[in-house]
Amino acid sequence: MPQNDFNIAIVGAGIGGLGFAIGLSHLGVPFTIYESAPAFSAVGAGVGLGPNALRAMDLIDKRFRDLYTNIATGNLKPEKKHVMMEAMLMDEGLGEGESWFGHGGWGSKDFTRTGAHRKDLLDIMTSFIPKDAVRFNKRVKSMTQGEGSVALIFEDGEVVQHAAVVASDGVKGFSRRIVLQDKYPEAVEPVYTGKYVYRAMVPMDDAKDILGDLATDAKMFMSKGANISTYPISEGKLMNLVAFKRDDEPWKYPEFKYDVSKEDMLEDFVQHRPDGRLVKLLDWAKPTRWGIFHHPTTPTYYNSLICLLGDVAHAGGPHQGAGAGQCLEDSLILSRVLGKLYTSFPPSKSSPLFTPSPLRTKLVEAAFRAYDEVRRPRAQEQVRTAKECGEIYNLQDPVAGTDIEKVVKNLNDRFYWIWEHDLEKDVKQVEQRFVELLGEGMCAGVLESARL
Ligand SMILES: Cc1cc2nc3c(=O)[nH]c(=O)nc-3n(C[C@H](O)[C@H](O)[C@H](O)COP(=O)(O)OP(=O)(O)OC[C@H]3O[C@@H](n4cnc5c(N)ncnc54)[C@H](O)[C@@H]3O)c2cc1C
Repeated sequence: MPQNDFNIAIVGAGIGGLGFAIGLSHLGVPFTIYESAPAFSAVGAGVGLGPNALRAMDLIDKRFRDLYTNIATGNLKPEKKHVMMEAMLMDEGLGEGESWFGHGGWGSKDFTRTGAHRKDLLDIMTSFIPKDAVRFNKRVKSMTQGEGSVALIFEDGEVVQHAAVVASDGVKGFSRRIVLQDKYPEAVEPVYTGKYVYRAMVPMDDAKDILGDLATDAKMFMSKGANISTYPISEGKLMNLVAFKRDDEPWKYPEFKYDVSKEDMLEDFVQHRPDGRLVKLLDWAKPTRWGIFHHPTTPTYYNSLICLLGDVAHAGGPHQGAGAGQCLEDSLILSRVLGKLYTSFPPSKSSPLFTPSPLRTKLVEAAFRAYDEVRRPRAQEQVRTAKECGEIYNLQDPVAGTDIEKVVKNLNDRFYWIWEHDLEKDVKQVEQRFVELLGEGMCAGVLESARL
């Protein structure tokens, strides 16, 4: 048997790392996940996924989509099935009686609202991952690239070699520095969006006691200095709440979150004179300020054998409910192109893939470059438009301003390009581009031995 050390290291087991691992697993490409935490994350919060995210699941592994369907929750009223969210005001009365009230929804007949508890989503994702393909308590400290392989150095001193690394270590992931520092040092650090959030999970019965009929379906309560989103998850047993607060000060804290008193948290919103029902709901939130950071500029997603995926590449503000969906699109496109690479060179002593070499580096680089070309423009556009969307929720869009009819029209026009994107076309494009790059001389002479 030829020596085969073609194994991809995946750094991080969040939605990005796991989605990519499911894709590789489905295609039979060997991988190992390194996660710094002692176990898969059980962080409790909701996540909403649009039709593009569901299509990505379908194309990664159809069973993934089927399992998601079992844990997903939509709006509880059947007539709101296709509504992403409905506009409300934070002010006293929530806008009731105003001309738009009751028809302030945005969505599409092709959009079906779905969301889930993150723990449930991660549980179904981890069910695809073989136990021996994950190593917990492994914090990667640094990486160095050699000829046809990468060394990962862990905090505990261990060093391992892999054919390539796909880093999905989150918005503040260290791998971003490794990929960008030399050529684009100014793009390394995440940028504070000028907003922080508080989060809560409210039992639906309590949410109904407070909000009545408004509790059962996704809502966005808007004001100039803050906004609150609510939606049902966990079969309608819980309401997920995220309360956003604008903040003109730079972020001064070493961590991305810090605790404040309950009074300080409520004061953040009370100064905008919210409806009393929202104040009661906020009482359920933990008084922890989570800073929202993003990566508005990422000039490349790869550097030779190390490639970025998910938030470490393109974290955005969570205003379009699209970050996790972008992780899944990355996962689909990158696993497919690496699958194409892997299956193009069947095992043999002369295979260029199975031992480290400059040629193997070029082959992997061609795959990473094709992924970068297909995914980066779209993912970065999501970051840009998410920022705009946050301005709309704060009634500060230069055109729509505080006119809710215009706000709702803007929101109704805003999401199609995210939801209705042709992912099958992207898959074809990434595979074609990969083959083209090989033919363009990146890997001269290799095409004859490949089963492309
Ligand atoms: C308030 C809020 C609400 C959101 N709501 C939505 C929504 O409704 N819909 C949506 O689509 N998106 C939403 N998002 C965005 C979405 O949550 C993210 O885009 C997504 O979870 C990012 O996943 P990831 O795998 O890239 O990163 P992460 O989930 O951050 O995972 C990174 C993993 O890497 C590990 N790690 C880090 N460093 C190392 C290291 N050195 N070595 C080993 N392991 C390491 C971490 O422990 C972690 O497990 C929201 C985000 C926020 C903040």
